[in-house]
Amino acid sequence: MLHDVRASKDINRQRHHATYIIDHAKGIFCSRKYLHGGGFIHIKKALSGPDCGTFCESSNCIQSYEIAKQGRHMSYECPHVQSVQYAKPGIEQYLTTRSLQALVTGKLITSERAHEALTLQAEAQQQNTPFLVHMSLDGYSQRYIYLSVYSGLTRYWSRLKRTVVTIDKKGKCIYCQCSPEKQTCKHKIIGKWYLNQDQPEVLSSRIEERAGDDATSETADNHEDNIYLYQKEYPPNGHLLEKMTKYIMTCKKYPADANSHRDYNNVESKATLVPKETHCHFCHAQLSEATLLTATAKIVYSEKIIK
Ligand SMILES: [Zn+2]
Ligand SMILES: [Zn+2]
Ligand SMILES: [Zn+2]
Repeated sequence: MLHDVRASKDINRQRHHATYIIDHAKGIFCSRKYLHGGGFIHIKKALSGPDCGTFCESSNCIQSYEIAKQGRHMSYECPHVQSVQYAKPGIEQYLTTRSLQALVTGKLITSERAHEALTLQAEAQQQNTPFLVHMSLDGYSQRYIYLSVYSGLTRYWSRLKRTVVTIDKKGKCIYCQCSPEKQTCKHKIIGKWYLNQDQPEVLSSRIEERAGDDATSETADNHEDNIYLYQKEYPPNGHLLEKMTKYIMTCKKYPADANSHRDYNNVESKATLVPKETHCHFCHAQLSEATLLTATAKIVYSEKIIK
């Protein structure tokens, strides 16, 4: 499903995605996924500098940019990027070692976790980018706290080296784009650090760690962004992408006469598809165990698409 191009023309002062400035120098912003609310995604609009360009994390928008590029509409901007002109400043929070130490003393986190959080904070400082930015939602429900947290990694869930941590005060949960349900992560720990310092009354009532931003999903569309990848940079690009495409085209394509061997029902009923390769096709090194890429894949045949 693609963004309606006509709809994107309607971005104006009265009607835009609530957007916050995260890192002014690098042109990084956080924008609400939907006009009427929902969770936040990171976007980039940098007009100058070595990394200048436009990018939006939403998978719908990534597709829209691809289509615009093919049609040579080079000036296309998705509704989130268009909303940048109405962006308000986010609130950068300087988290202290003392409030982190209090979490360790209170046995709310381990000292190893505290060390990881401190390391990430130092790295953000070194990179000259804000470690944690709070988006203050004036005029919105006060149920959720949205934080843009430095991740230092380019991953499927963090293409602009940042993740969104969502704290649901009412549901008493912390969500992060990076990790599955009930699994802790560095960023959820940082969310607790923020709470302990800025809103300790929220932390004092037990809070659970959850995945993604399902708490704030307002349409099923969010699911496709809940894709976790812990290793290797993703999606691949440049030379690697070319290599992967060639490999798939030459080694993984069904021969034209294979129709009779296909069994859709068999594929459909299979919950997981795991590659049979155990060694790298190029360098013959042993490969790791299979990694979950997506839980919502489409299987594309020339005459049928299975979701
Ligand atoms: Zn967008
Ligand atoms: Zn995380
Ligand atoms: Zn290899």
